[in-house]
Amino acid sequence: MRGPVVEYSPGVFPEGIAGNGAIAFIDRDGVLNIGSSSYINKPEDLIILEGAPEAVGNLKRSGFQVCIVTNQSPIMRGLWDENQLYLIHQRLRQMFLQMDSDAHFDMIVTCPHRHRDNCNCRKPNPGMLNLADRILRGREEFIPNSKQEIMGLDSNYKPVNWWKDKVQPKHELDLLVGDRNSDMGAGWAVGARLFKVPESIGISSVSHRIIDENDQGDDFNPIR
Ligand SMILES: [Mg+2]
Ligand SMILES: [Zn+2]
Repeated sequence: MRGPVVEYSPGVFPEGIAGNGAIAFIDRDGVLNIGSSSYINKPEDLIILEGAPEAVGNLKRSGFQVCIVTNQSPIMRGLWDENQLYLIHQRLRQMFLQMDSDAHFDMIVTCPHRHRDNCNCRKPNPGMLNLADRILRGREEFIPNSKQEIMGLDSNYKPVNWWKDKVQPKHELDLLVGDRNSDMGAGWAVGARLFKVPESIGISSVSHRIIDENDQGDDFNPIR
C-alpha cells in the first residue's frame, strides 16, 4: 500500500456561509477524540473530547474546509484493514454531526504506514496535507473506486528541508491543530498556522483562537 487512504466527502457549508478558501487540517486522536497507546481499533473505542464537535462546527461556520490528517500504523501492522478504518470514521462523523449539525469533515486522510515503511505521508511529512490541498482546491481529481469512497493515492514527493524558513501557506488562514510535534512538523511544512493542544483537552482548548484571523498560531521550530 503506497499512498494514504482518502475518504473524500466535500460538504456544503452551513446555510448562508461562503467558503473562505482556507483548509483546517486536524489531527484525530488527542484532538477530536481521546487517544490510546494501543490505538483506536473499533468504532466503540471512540470517545469524543468535550467541545470538539462545536469547535469543528465553528470552523465550518467560519468558512473553512475541514480535513482530518491521521497516522494509523495498525493498518500496515496488519491489525485491521481499510474497511475497519471506514467504520471507525463513519461512527466519528455520526457522533460529531449529532452534537453539532455543522460539524462535517470534508476529507479524512489516513497514513497507514509504519515508521520503517519510510513513506512521505506519515507525519511529520506533509504528504497527506499536500494531497488534501490538491484535491480540496481542485488541482487534482478525486476518483472514487468503491462504495466506501476509499482509495489509495500517491503524493508527489518533495523532501522537506527542515532547516529552511517556514514556507508561505497556500492560504493565509490555513491551520493545523495537533497534540504532537509530528503534527506541528507537517503543518509547518505547508506553512499553516499551528495550534498545539493538550491531548486530554483537544481542539476545544483553541476553539476561539483558530477562528481568529489575527491569531498567527504557535511558534514552532522543527529542528529544535
Ligand atoms: Mg494525536
Ligand atoms: Zn504513509
